[in-house]
Amino acid sequence: MKIPIAKPFLNEAEAQLAYDTILTNWVTQGPQVAAFEEEFAAYTGAKYAIAVSNCTTALHLSLVVAGVGPGDEVIVPSMSYIATANCVIHAGATPVFAEVCRESYNIDPADVRRKITSKTKAVIGVHQIGLPFKINEVRAICDEHQLVLIEDAACAAGSSYNNRKIGSHSDYVCFSFHPRKVITTGDGGMITTQNEKIAQRLKLLRQHGMSVNDRVRHLSQTVIMEEHVEVGYNYRLTDIQAAVGREQLKKLDWIIEERTKIANQYLQSFKDIDCIELPHVPEHVMTNWQSFSIYIKGNSPISRNDLMQRLLDVGIATRRGVMTSHREHAFTSLGYNNSLPISEDACDQSIILPLFVPMSQEEIGYVISHFKSLLRH
Ligand SMILES: *Cc1c(COP(=O)(O)O)cnc(C)c1O
Repeated sequence: MKIPIAKPFLNEAEAQLAYDTILTNWVTQGPQVAAFEEEFAAYTGAKYAIAVSNCTTALHLSLVVAGVGPGDEVIVPSMSYIATANCVIHAGATPVFAEVCRESYNIDPADVRRKITSKTKAVIGVHQIGLPFKINEVRAICDEHQLVLIEDAACAAGSSYNNRKIGSHSDYVCFSFHPRKVITTGDGGMITTQNEKIAQRLKLLRQHGMSVNDRVRHLSQTVIMEEHVEVGYNYRLTDIQAAVGREQLKKLDWIIEERTKIANQYLQSFKDIDCIELPHVPEHVMTNWQSFSIYIKGNSPISRNDLMQRLLDVGIATRRGVMTSHREHAFTSLGYNNSLPISEDACDQSIILPLFVPMSQEEIGYVISHFKSLLRH
């Protein structure tokens, strides 16, 4: 058997919609993008949704609109996909790496507080592998110090915090539709916000700073002369991608239900293994189980790396735990030499198991039995 780490859930419906969109001749940021934005805002409970080319551009654009630039510091967890920190560099600012909490591997509010300086302008919290971070605690610190809070929700479409979907809590919430996330448009991104002015500025800057969008100009009965009011970017999502995204969004709740069943099966099957720590989901949050990460303790009969190799030998793909950005050459070469023991340990000792929809009972059972036997259970 060969079991991949992840697989997007795409089928004939998405293919047909991409095909249909191509034949309309409107292939970028047009009616499909507008509809996708409206539906995504309605789904998350956000006031506005702005589609962009991916989550990295979503984060960059958010920093720009938040006024972050050269001389500013932005606090981010090192333990995240490196794009979280990279986008701060793209904005000309300096990422400052914070530690994560031991029980959630999400940003530690106490360390955010310790890392604040007179230069701090914003904090990017990450809902790592779909599990929401402590939004209220981090927001309270941001409010106290007049910092902008940006949520990196790349992995968190459909997750919720305090009974409200991620996307509805802040003025900058950035999503990814890369195939490794729970729904995909190939590549793609979305920013949700509750603030009309921010929404307008995000829309302006994603399309070259152009005063009128193509759709408005196209539908107008009178001639419109567009202007370019500031230096913008091309961060558009295509209509082909948006058509796929609309179909994926319809399936999102079902996909999460299926992912939750598989996650529960893993939790149940592994609960008696004493050399591992299983993921912990706090009371007030709901995770979409974008990934299933297990911490391998020091008393394990097999090292994390050997475990990954032995699983690969029998056809089961796994991944190391979420990376630490501060130890990558991209940042050590800039002079970063932080010590973040919880993040480093979690990255080095955790393993991510396959989890995708649909995953057959045979595949789930195969992963469970090999994982258990390698840990001598
Ligand atoms: C995937 C991911 C990103 C980057 O998303 P793209 O759409 O590939 O740009 C950013 N942050 C986190 C936490 C991610 O997991």
